[in-house]
Amino acid sequence: MNKRRRIYEGKAKVLYEGPEPGTLIQHFKDDATAFNAKKHALIEGKGVLNNRISEYIFVKLGEIGVPTHFMRRMNMREQLIREVEIIPLEVVVRNVAAGSLATRLGLEEGTALPRSIIEFYYKADKLNDPMVSEEHITAFGWATPQEIDEVMSLALRINDFLVGLFLGIGIRLIDFKVEFGRHWENDQMRIILADEISPDCCRLWDVATANKLDKDRFRRDLGGVLEAYQEVARRLGVLTENRPPKGAGPVLVTSNGTKPN
Ligand code: UDP
Repeated sequence: MNKRRRIYEGKAKVLYEGPEPGTLIQHFKDDATAFNAKKHALIEGKGVLNNRISEYIFVKLGEIGVPTHFMRRMNMREQLIREVEIIPLEVVVRNVAAGSLATRLGLEEGTALPRSIIEFYYKADKLNDPMVSEEHITAFGWATPQEIDEVMSLALRINDFLVGLFLGIGIRLIDFKVEFGRHWENDQMRIILADEISPDCCRLWDVATANKLDKDRFRRDLGGVLEAYQEVARRLGVLTENRPPKGAGPVLVTSNGTKPN
């Protein structure tokens, strides 16, 4: 493979220079980290699953009119994306109390919230991504009031869509984290969804059993991390495509993925 210029390396992804100006290649690694990278492991196959799951969700969101950075999947681990200027905020949307909210407010995990709640965290590893308010965001110039309005409205649309999407496959969307970026087209700036949406950044509980199908399996040493991610991918219907059959030669498939008669 040609040497590509690495633009940025994060905990679970690498960004490379894209084939055209204004594009990047987002590469999903198998690394899993938690507690600001104090805990680290390799979960073989996680990157491939997250690439697929995130692609599926971003494409679906695009179809309902949510602008995203996703352009196309390039291979098992990589997707072509639009280059954006990331707004330095982690935007968390919550439907049910869990994780840091449950701890902070003394709520029992699993308690439904009176309504969906949006929280902002300032992206700064050195500071452990502190929670911030709109006051901090505007005072320090991380985003304007108009941008915050747009981010909140997009986050709620994404939440409404994802709650329904996951409920349809027997999964309760407890909470998730998204990131947004500024994208310029002919001097026009608009805010678009960036980063990824995968079990790495969502809490997903099986409706019937309340089993966790997300990164909490890693954070809390519950085991079966890859199996949980596979289950999410399988239910979304993204697992079976493009899997070379073991021991067989190449199989001719039509553009819609079916074998020709
Ligand atoms: N989250 C994330 N990255 C972070 C922090 C949180 O993707 O750096 C996600 C997390 O997976 C969960 C949601 O945001 O779905 C809310 O996380 P919470 O604030 O409860 O923090 P945690 O308990 O994960 O530390």
